[in-house]
Amino acid sequence: MIVADTKPFSVLLVEDDEDDYLITRDMLERQNRARFVLDWCSDYGTGLSAIGEQCHDVYLIDYRLGQSTGLDLVREGFASRPQAPVIILTGQSDYQIDLEATALGVTDFLLKQDLNPLSLERSIRYAISHQQALRDLARSEERYALAARAVNDGIWDWDLQTDQVYFSPRWHNVLGRADPEGDEHPSAWFDLVHEDDLPGLRNNIEAHLSGRTSHLQSEHRMRHVDGTWRSMLTRGLAVREIDGRATRMAGSLSDITERRRAESQLQHDAFNDALTGLPNRALFMDRLEQALCRSKRDPAAGYAVLFLDIDRFKLVNDSFSHAVGDHLLIGSAARITQVVRPGDTVARIGGDEFAILLDDSEAADPAQFAISVAERVQTSLSRVFNVDDHRLFVTASIGISLSVPDISAADLLRNADIAMYEAKRYGRGRYTVFDESMHRRVANRLERENDLRQAVQQSLIRVHYQPVVDLATGRIRGFEALARWPEGWPPVSPADFIPIAEETGLIGPLGLHVLRTALTTLAAWRRSGLVADDVRMSINVSGRQLDNPNFPEEVLGAIAAAGVPGDVVRLEITEGTFMREPERMARVVSEVCACGVGLELDDFGTGYSSLAALHQFPVDALKIDRSFVASFNEDADSEVIVRSILALAHSLGLKVIAEGIEEPEQLERLRSFGCEYGQGYLFSRPLASAEMETVLESWPAHPAAHAHLVAPSPI
Ligand code: C2E
Ligand code: MG
Ligand code: MG
Repeated sequence: MIVADTKPFSVLLVEDDEDDYLITRDMLERQNRARFVLDWCSDYGTGLSAIGEQCHDVYLIDYRLGQSTGLDLVREGFASRPQAPVIILTGQSDYQIDLEATALGVTDFLLKQDLNPLSLERSIRYAISHQQALRDLARSEERYALAARAVNDGIWDWDLQTDQVYFSPRWHNVLGRADPEGDEHPSAWFDLVHEDDLPGLRNNIEAHLSGRTSHLQSEHRMRHVDGTWRSMLTRGLAVREIDGRATRMAGSLSDITERRRAESQLQHDAFNDALTGLPNRALFMDRLEQALCRSKRDPAAGYAVLFLDIDRFKLVNDSFSHAVGDHLLIGSAARITQVVRPGDTVARIGGDEFAILLDDSEAADPAQFAISVAERVQTSLSRVFNVDDHRLFVTASIGISLSVPDISAADLLRNADIAMYEAKRYGRGRYTVFDESMHRRVANRLERENDLRQAVQQSLIRVHYQPVVDLATGRIRGFEALARWPEGWPPVSPADFIPIAEETGLIGPLGLHVLRTALTTLAAWRRSGLVADDVRMSINVSGRQLDNPNFPEEVLGAIAAAGVPGDVVRLEITEGTFMREPERMARVVSEVCACGVGLELDDFGTGYSSLAALHQFPVDALKIDRSFVASFNEDADSEVIVRSILALAHSLGLKVIAEGIEEPEQLERLRSFGCEYGQGYLFSRPLASAEMETVLESWPAHPAAHAHLVAPSPI
């Protein structure tokens, strides 16, 4: 509301009659609702220039201005300001002039004789506020138009009563179409929508028009002029009558093709393996879960999971390069995919691990069906892979598990994994079908692994010593140090815990512990005169230990710490380890052997070494595996094998140690074959150092003759 103490309004009066000016001024002064500052121009020309200054809030213009009219002045003075508040004052009422004034945008048309202070004040006030509202509206329309032009969206405005739609130039532009000519029928829109998406769009429109949704939102494909389908997002809002009936609906159209493409790329990347393009573990688990849900609803639906691991894949990476390894994986993925049905899922779920989800619902014998797929996969992988210039042969171990009621996806995959490990235990290129006993074995193994870790970390692994005896003289040539499970724990034999130590890498610290303990013991025995200076200590070394680049350093460090000469130390390396990687062996061994440390070939006869390969290593003895000695009586071949090993070894200048001598007859026979050394329960079981000291104190001068009299002690 206008109150007297607000800022005064400036009023320009263009009036050629001075009396009328005075009357007007008087009227404005006589009212007390608002304050006015009145400027007066008495002719057209001065009025025009005052209007041009644009410094008045309102204009009062007399209709008669000499030769011209007030409307001429409005036309000329306000051409660029159609929203200016202008009131025409006239001496006589004329409807035609009134109409003309309205058409010019004049706010009011007042008869001078009807005027009084209050009506004039009110008219001025209305003129000002009305024009202010018009200006605001124009500004907001301008702003809206600017915004519509700035956003990338097309605009549409649908008059539901005439069923015509206005589509903005941008709307057409988004679809590659030329600018529109006037409004169009809605079919101009719907005809471009993909037929599969049209019902959805219509439903969404209907839902909003009927008031079931607060706004329209619909995603659908639309055909671009270039023939491609684009993903579009349409949003809209209805304008309603008081009874809720929609009369108009307007909204926007945005091209979201790129956004959708980026999203689906992200989605693809999140669920697919970048190297092979196969589904990854996450997607595999998702599909597996869905499959298991289906089999819950339909008990006839059955599934099998195959867990596949490429055997010795690490060797490919290590021996060639990761690029070769990658190619091999891509090639393997392609071959596996080729031998399964299109509906089955093949996924890469780890480095060299793949999983296959098979729907076996139609198979009469699901296990047999899964096995046949496993065989097909193995056959397909067995063909040579040509990668760069390398010819690679691979095998894969496969574990199979079949769905059972209520099994979870994670368990089904885990069972297949367990079965795969079981398959590997029996050698490469095999498959096994999961059964519960495997699960128990794995659980036991895990428990054992934890125990072993604790035993190693807390240095609880003990060392026992078994003498190696000169069969001709009965003198002790040396000892073999053997690892033993911690005292007081439920017994576990080295044949069980050493392989676990090898697989878990615990063999490194375990072996070092045995080495240090054994050399310290030997040093003590030497100092106390219990053993002669040339008595050796043999330490078992696993292949895995040789992978450790610090191994030579550790051995030399232990020798130095114990203060024994290097040449009393022997490393027992199995024939298998020796032959598998002779180059690596040579590297490691040459460093150690430079200090006099010798090698013994353990478990000889069980592998396939050619003795000729041996002379590049400082091997001074072969240990004949105890299986040959044990089967002397039953198997004539054993004797032949032992004799030929002896002959070969001697021709190469090597000594031979026979393992596992338990009977005097075995001893006799070995002696008669010319075998130099032996160890076995007949002489002594492996014993703790304190027990061995007692044995040593009473070791007979020539025990060989009475070897069987040496009391066997418990392990
Ligand atoms: P190995 O190196 O061939 O050790 C000889 C095995 O024969 C020992 O078994 C020993 O107790 C056993 N033995 C000795 N004389 C007789 C006999 O007259 N009759 C029978 N039946 N057995 C006899 P053990 O101690 O159970 O060790 C088994 C294997 O575990 C060893 O075979 C060796 O390969 C491995 N091992 C033991 N300690 C270590 C270690 O500290 N490091 C590594 N890497 N391997 C070890
Ligand atoms: Mg040994
Ligand atoms: Mg052995």
